[in-house]
Amino acid sequence: MPLVVQKYGGSSLADAAKIRNVARRIAKTRKAGKQVVVVVSAMGDTTDDLIKLAYQVNKKPEERELDVLLSTGELVASTLLAMALHGMGLRAISLSGAQAGIKTDDAYNKARITNIEPVRIFKELTKDNIVIVAGFQGITQDEDITTLGRGGSDTTAVALAAALKAERCERYTDVDGIYTSDPRLISKARKLRDISYDEMLEVVTYGFKSVQPRAVELAEVYNIPFLVASSFNNNAGTLIHLAKGNVNSHH
Ligand code: ASP
Ligand code: MG
Repeated sequence: MPLVVQKYGGSSLADAAKIRNVARRIAKTRKAGKQVVVVVSAMGDTTDDLIKLAYQVNKKPEERELDVLLSTGELVASTLLAMALHGMGLRAISLSGAQAGIKTDDAYNKARITNIEPVRIFKELTKDNIVIVAGFQGITQDEDITTLGRGGSDTTAVALAAALKAERCERYTDVDGIYTSDPRLISKARKLRDISYDEMLEVVTYGFKSVQPRAVELAEVYNIPFLVASSFNNNAGTLIHLAKGNVNSHH
């Protein structure tokens, strides 16, 4: 059965109604006969709020504690999404980054994934579960929780897609694709049907506030087709892939 990794951003999960909307979209994919591994960000502004709180109790919060605190945002989103899916009669289970086997170095706040041991994920897929992984987090060799830097759920999603050999990674937010310029500022901005990883890295470098650059690099290295689309409509989105001529050359 084909496996797809879907990542939903914080704005797509900002309240109960939006979580249920995301659950319906996942259900559709599942019913279309695909195995689904979902990666979630924290709801809305949760991460910002948690950071503020930390600095209110201590001007220099210890980084280890800060990372555990921040990781809870994604846990909230993952558990609620699992409950929403259960309410629709679907089998689903939420996993923390650590439970999902995401191992990192110990650079708190900006940890890098060193490897992924997806034993548990495969076990749950075998049990017919939709697996929902809390993004943006992992665990060190010494079993401390780390976070991957702002926007890090993108990196979780791509790294998982590579580790699970998913057919592609789909990233859903409130923006329905990659545009030639910021559509909120420039009315002539045109949405791209597809774009190569190299071009995308340029776009990101030019400040388009979108995909975490580390995620794009990973997607290129592992040749993961990466769809950027909206969770609020069914517009086509933008597919990021290898440069023309290279398309499919590694599969
Ligand atoms: N919640 C984290 C952040 O806001 C990670 C993410 O959204 O990908 O940076
Ligand atoms: Mg976020």
